[in-house]
Amino acid sequence: MEPHVPRTARIALNRPIRRLFDYLLPDHMTLQRGQRVTVPFGRQSATGLVVETDAQPPEGITLKPVRSAAEAWPALPPETFRLLSWASDYYQHPLGECLFTALPPALRRGRPAVEKVEPYWQACGDPALLPGNAKRQKELLAWLKRQPGGAGSKQIVRAGFTQSQIRSLQEKELIRETTPPSTDGATEETRNRIPVLSPAQQEAADQLPSPDDGFTTTLLFGITGSGKTELYLHYLKTHLDDNHQALVLVPEINLTPQTVARFQYYFGSRIAVWHSALKDSERLSTWLRIRNGEPVILIGTRSAVLLPFTNLKTIVVDEEHDSSYKQGEGFRYSGRDTAIYRAHLNNCPVILGSATPSMESYHNALTGKYTLVRLEERAGNAKLPTIKLLDIRSRPLEGGLSRPAISAIEKCLNAGQQALVYVNRRGFAPIMMCFDCGHMVECPRCDTRLTYHRRDRAMRCHHCDFQTAATDHCPKCDSEAFKPVGQGTERSEDVLAAQFPDIPVVRVDRDSTQRKGSIQGILDTVNSGSPCILVGTQMLAKGHDFPNVTLVVVVNADGGLFSVDFRAPEQLIQTLLQVSGRAGRGEKTGEVLVQTCHSDHPLLRSLAVGYYLPVADQLLAERETGQLPPYRAMAILRAESDVMSSSLKLLDDMKSKASDCGIESWGPLPALIARRADRHRAQLIMVSNNRVRLNRQLALLCQDLDLMRLPADVKWAIDVDPLET
Ligand code: ADP
Ligand code: ZN
Ligand code: ZN
Repeated sequence: MEPHVPRTARIALNRPIRRLFDYLLPDHMTLQRGQRVTVPFGRQSATGLVVETDAQPPEGITLKPVRSAAEAWPALPPETFRLLSWASDYYQHPLGECLFTALPPALRRGRPAVEKVEPYWQACGDPALLPGNAKRQKELLAWLKRQPGGAGSKQIVRAGFTQSQIRSLQEKELIRETTPPSTDGATEETRNRIPVLSPAQQEAADQLPSPDDGFTTTLLFGITGSGKTELYLHYLKTHLDDNHQALVLVPEINLTPQTVARFQYYFGSRIAVWHSALKDSERLSTWLRIRNGEPVILIGTRSAVLLPFTNLKTIVVDEEHDSSYKQGEGFRYSGRDTAIYRAHLNNCPVILGSATPSMESYHNALTGKYTLVRLEERAGNAKLPTIKLLDIRSRPLEGGLSRPAISAIEKCLNAGQQALVYVNRRGFAPIMMCFDCGHMVECPRCDTRLTYHRRDRAMRCHHCDFQTAATDHCPKCDSEAFKPVGQGTERSEDVLAAQFPDIPVVRVDRDSTQRKGSIQGILDTVNSGSPCILVGTQMLAKGHDFPNVTLVVVVNADGGLFSVDFRAPEQLIQTLLQVSGRAGRGEKTGEVLVQTCHSDHPLLRSLAVGYYLPVADQLLAERETGQLPPYRAMAILRAESDVMSSSLKLLDDMKSKASDCGIESWGPLPALIARRADRHRAQLIMVSNNRVRLNRQLALLCQDLDLMRLPADVKWAIDVDPLET
């Protein structure tokens, strides 16, 4: 008789450790890669995902058996599993946490992969058939008859009836279960429509690849208002079969009901959305639709790229330059770059769209790695706005606004149009300063100053959650000459409201949108088209279509001009062009006024010409000279601890290790904000001409770091392709 060879499985758990766990497979059990299981872990049980099924069991260790499989099919189908394994390697993040990111929260917690569907009821019988004593049942039946399309159980209970009354009526066959009416706003007619493109749009559309051509990356450079969304819709309409899936990635803030409604108009209930504000039940439901291969067109933010598509035919990444595609902590992946890898694995096209492409994508287009498609005409009759630099060096300012800016706003409102004022800081003022002793209020936990929020009479740190009550007097010398310095959105809102008392002033920033819920509610006034002033942060710059805005005022453009971060000029120019792009999208030509103290700065001067690509060429040339990304691959090793010396010490050690394996490194240096929430942060920047080699060496560094016995307060993380340096 042959010796009994135990079968084992290697399982990933949702833990931030770079290792997998081995378990015995019970005789009756077969498992596939990507399947969800329950395993004993310590004294408890944990949800795991199968990574390998024929693993060599480690010797001399008694393994515990897998308890059960959560379902008979792999939660992560093969392509999704490969994508996540790649991301785990590329971003140097533990496989377990990467894999679990692709599960909806309910499945991470081990809940069953079934959707709780709320029954929906329709009346189908005559109340007269009920006996006289069934008064409430009669009333329920009558009530239900009045509900067009029927009602859900919850709604029925809210109306004052009970579950048992519902059951009784169902048993008597006076009501029956039905499907809820579709609420997606599409009709048979609109679903059969195809967007009509302008000649310029058609020319661009003709250059887009067909899904049958397999994997290609296209950079769609389409100026603001050129109708990129229209082009995506047309593309999906003409290239997607009824049974195909598609993914449209959007930056967080762009996911407004307005955008979704435009997709629903053409595709009805095929449209599903994915973003952080969804309820767990909604996430599970959408996840299941995708996993089951339903022909969903998913509009989603970053993490949507990790979902278990099984029949994906096309990926679109809108506003591909947007920094919200990069996760800033934990599993620091780029949704855009992961989308490109996914398209490669899946052998389908990916379209990156932007009016201000990232240096990375533009460089890839110039070198021929991506196909560049240009759309440089605005849709309809709209023209690009003119951009004027307004030097404010010796001008008196009122709440940050110069006289010419205020007159321009007045003129715009008098003409029945809308104005948008862009301020780069929320709150009232970035600094509270004492004009007697010079004291400025700082965050006790970070190396930053507190922002004054007048609406809440609070001083807040925008880098940690610290906040304290605002005072009228200097906390140090008690002087009354304690004043706000600089501009925040609240202050501009106040100044404008005082200047234009009869005109609604709408503030859009993280504070106002958090309070009022959806950004859409706030934007109702704007969408009505009547004169108003929009004041806001870069939330306003992203993707919105306000046809009646004809004037944009940038309160201060100088923030990014002299930053030490090499990406600052790129981000500045992108934000300024995006916010400028909100002007003149309708019939009337727009105007942009950029207030600055550096009107002779070359970057601003080229911005004023209004064309992005020449500026991008210039920025790329500087990157090449400095041998910076995209000309070289970059990764940052970040360390933090309770004292700066421990952070620097760890990075010093790693610097010599890096140099031993031939990686060039810069630093270590304290981070830009060296102390944040009382943690002292430092970083070591590593660069290489060879991305693959850098990746291999980073993996070795991670192994070393894992084996090191570090003090408990010292934490480290690797950030590959960092956006913040
Ligand atoms: P982008 O995303 O490129 O900034 P949008 O897709 O939001 O541009 O389009 C800008 C505006 O032009 C929208 O109001 C859109 O409805 C309109 N538009 C786009 N394409 C067309 C077209 N072919 N015909 C008519 N209107 C269009
Ligand atoms: Zn003082
Ligand atoms: Zn702080």
